[in-house]
Amino acid sequence: MHPAREASFIEMQCGALEHLANHVSHLTLPRVQRTKRGTLFAEITDSFGQKRLVWLLSFLPGVTLAKANPLSPEILEDLGRFLGELDAALGTYWHPAVDRELKWDSSRAGWIRDQLHHIEEPSRRALVGYFLSLFEKEVESRRSDLRTGPIYGDANDHNVLISPPWPQPRRIAGVIDFGDMHHGWIVSEPAIAAAYALLGKDDPLGVAREIASGFHRAFQLTEAEIAAMFPLIGMRLAVSVANSAARKKQKPGDPYVTVTENQAWAALERLAKIHPRFAQYALRDACGLAAVPKTQKIADWLIQQGNSGSSVVEADLRAAPLHVFDLSAGSLMLGADPANAEVHSLTRTIFERMEQERVAIGIGRYNEARLLYTTPQYAGDEAQRSERRTIHLGLDVFVVPGTQVCAPLEGVVHLLAENTMELDYGPLVILRHETGEGDEFFTLYGHLTRETLRNLKPGQAIQRGEAFAHVGTLQQNGGWPPHLHFQVILDLLDRGAEFPGVARASERSTWTGLSPDPNLLLGIPREKIAPVESAPQDSLPRRRELLGGNLSVSYRKPLKIVRGWRQHLYDETGRAYLDVYNNVPLVGHSHPRVVRAGQEQLALLNTNTRYLHENILRYAERLMQLLPDPLKVYYIVNSGSEANELALRLARAYTRNDDTIVLEHAYHGHTNTLIDISPYKFNGPGGGGKKPWVHVAPLADDYRGIYRGNESDLGAKYAADVGEICREVQSRGKRPTYIAETLPSVGGQVVFPPNYLAEVYRRVRAAGGVCIADEVQVGFGRLGTHFWGFETQGVVPDIVVLGKPIGNAFPLAAVVTTREIANAFDNGMEFFSTFGGNPVSCAVGLAVLDVLEEEGLQANALRVGKLLVGEFRDLQQRHAVLGDIRGSGFFLGLDFVQSRETREAAPDQASYVVNRLREEGILTGTDGPHHNVIKLRPPLIFSESDAAHFCQTLGRILHEDPAQPGA
Ligand code: PMP
Repeated sequence: MHPAREASFIEMQCGALEHLANHVSHLTLPRVQRTKRGTLFAEITDSFGQKRLVWLLSFLPGVTLAKANPLSPEILEDLGRFLGELDAALGTYWHPAVDRELKWDSSRAGWIRDQLHHIEEPSRRALVGYFLSLFEKEVESRRSDLRTGPIYGDANDHNVLISPPWPQPRRIAGVIDFGDMHHGWIVSEPAIAAAYALLGKDDPLGVAREIASGFHRAFQLTEAEIAAMFPLIGMRLAVSVANSAARKKQKPGDPYVTVTENQAWAALERLAKIHPRFAQYALRDACGLAAVPKTQKIADWLIQQGNSGSSVVEADLRAAPLHVFDLSAGSLMLGADPANAEVHSLTRTIFERMEQERVAIGIGRYNEARLLYTTPQYAGDEAQRSERRTIHLGLDVFVVPGTQVCAPLEGVVHLLAENTMELDYGPLVILRHETGEGDEFFTLYGHLTRETLRNLKPGQAIQRGEAFAHVGTLQQNGGWPPHLHFQVILDLLDRGAEFPGVARASERSTWTGLSPDPNLLLGIPREKIAPVESAPQDSLPRRRELLGGNLSVSYRKPLKIVRGWRQHLYDETGRAYLDVYNNVPLVGHSHPRVVRAGQEQLALLNTNTRYLHENILRYAERLMQLLPDPLKVYYIVNSGSEANELALRLARAYTRNDDTIVLEHAYHGHTNTLIDISPYKFNGPGGGGKKPWVHVAPLADDYRGIYRGNESDLGAKYAADVGEICREVQSRGKRPTYIAETLPSVGGQVVFPPNYLAEVYRRVRAAGGVCIADEVQVGFGRLGTHFWGFETQGVVPDIVVLGKPIGNAFPLAAVVTTREIANAFDNGMEFFSTFGGNPVSCAVGLAVLDVLEEEGLQANALRVGKLLVGEFRDLQQRHAVLGDIRGSGFFLGLDFVQSRETREAAPDQASYVVNRLREEGILTGTDGPHHNVIKLRPPLIFSESDAAHFCQTLGRILHEDPAQPGA
């Protein structure tokens, strides 16, 4: 220890560590190793003859927070929790040296007041001045409201240690350096931690929220303390830059003084853009309190007013006939096609529905997640690039243009404005009100006429019930169907006419706290207005109770999907996810052409194949153009399993026995027989093992299989093993059926070595057997180079099974075979599948083929697939975890390994990447026997820019600690 240090200072720290060891032994902290004499520390004389105090602490393993990548919300929450527990325990510790004068003690931070002149650049000086005055106004003047106690006081990112990347989630592994411990404000602790953790982060308030929430759970903060937290965060950074500026003058060139300086300036600039009261509300919300302190009081008052009939139109909405519209992300009325939300189309839909329902008033809900906000001003900002604003904060009243708008409460005109941007408020009025107890709040009226603005003056008193405005037309209201947007605002946050009417879902509870439900006042009966869409946390338990337990859900944080459009899926909050995973929506989710084909046919006729119908014939003829001779006979069914089941029946009718050769890890469907021929299932959890008539051949995988490398005879080598089985089957007087995916997907997106299937089919046929190609996953142009997987191997199967993408998500599947096999099956027993080949599914199948052809999608898969592989090869240079990259077109696999040499699978890393991609708004999944292959099978419309976005995000995640091989 520095020679100048006093014994009491060391005694205070060592004493604190011992106190913590006794009171919160579960917190991993350095432990004091007492001297042989039993003292906490000792005095020695160093080689310069100087006396020094020394003490010994145990070593804490861990990585510093500064090095954590990513600094996840879980780590930040845990940091808050750790510090909360630490300070709660320090509350019962005392040592006179705790009460010390320290420039890093936030309660003394005002010392920078007379240091500001050291900051040379005026704008920077002003920035620090801003945080200083915020501190003076919001914190210093209220110091009596802030609890004090001994605090650790130095949770900077070099003092906080975290656990290794695995197991997830990472936890705080301890804090070191108690040298800044002091008697200070309790809330300074999370504020200091946040000030450092948010350096370099796009979303500083998000960081502060996590830390506050964790701290509050362990050591409850008071409302006054939460209110002080944001100013204290800013002040900590202000002290840091002011200190650097002063020290730079004293000690020019000292790097220690300026370590965090640049980042601190950048953070101050970012924090200055956040309204301090908004930060306070967000932090209150994070701590589980009502975002705005006066919410409940005002809400109660509004309800009271509403009870005596407050309305915004002439009619009393409590009783008036009205129709409540569902404009949510999952609205059936809107559907997925954005064309339906185009203003003229939407206006027609809304007003026609009102006419049908014979009502003059339509209502759009408050707190509804919508995808109507398509212009750039609703796009994610710097902090939340992928998150658009979707949550409606007002209530819409759809009425004919010119309808009078009445004041539901007595008030004063606060502001008149015209927001002219597309999809903004258009002409708007904000009225100011006061409750009986003098609490101020506002009401906002958007999409009015310009004339309304001309007739009013700021400061003008408006009586309750007074018609003070009119609803505008779509030409002047910002481009919306005519309606009034009515919103209650408890705090305008100095934003005036720019106060948002739509918020980000991640800040939903803060914004709905700021803008409570206008219906508190209007009183539309609850049952009429109740939201339809429940959150995932509500759906999950119902699903568990109602549905079979072995129905799995993807991702650590399950997704609730309510809409699909092209290559995106949308959750209930309106968040878009780029779909790189689902091969079923071949031509894109909800393709209008396919949808229309199904809807039109369903509205006319859907029946079974015992009546003649053109659709099934047209469909078989279209498929025939795509399949080689002698595949001439078609069976249209409803699912891949039904098709594979039928394919087996056909094969068995032909071979007259059961013997079936399958590949390791294969999956062919969920029926009894298909489970029996699916090693992925019968060898997996709950599986009943292999049946005697099933023969498992090695998976011809040149990366993980029994024969590896790229020798030219690899295919023949694997085929020889199938030949062995054929010989054995034949020796018992039987004829084998060979079934395999033409590129095994469940097996891990495997590409057979050249010549494999040709050699296999030759041997199976030589043994009098039948070859089934399961094209359920890979067919229909996905591979880019070829329309069917079997074409890549230069073979023609005896039976082909088609499914999944065939109907673009409509239940449809098909079996195609030769006349000879079909004849063997046609043995007198009728074949009938009630829904198989129905006019609707065939209409859908035809539309899918039309789109595929007209949009040139196979060529797109080839072109963009090549780009993807090129990018992956680049990533592979930089990331050892990418062991193998395989596949073609839009059927690709990334094989994650612990080591390139051993090829040991890295399933944890793969799953981590998949879950992180999901957080970033991109959907993928893992597969393969070791669950270590990231499987990519996007809709064939996946574009070049989708590919670029995906690769960029993947590249970023591959740098993260838990994605590293051997981690
Ligand atoms: N074959 C393969 C190769 C499959 O991947 C699947 C489904 N994952 C099936 C058959 C069964 O199809 P379905 O789920 O439509 O019954």
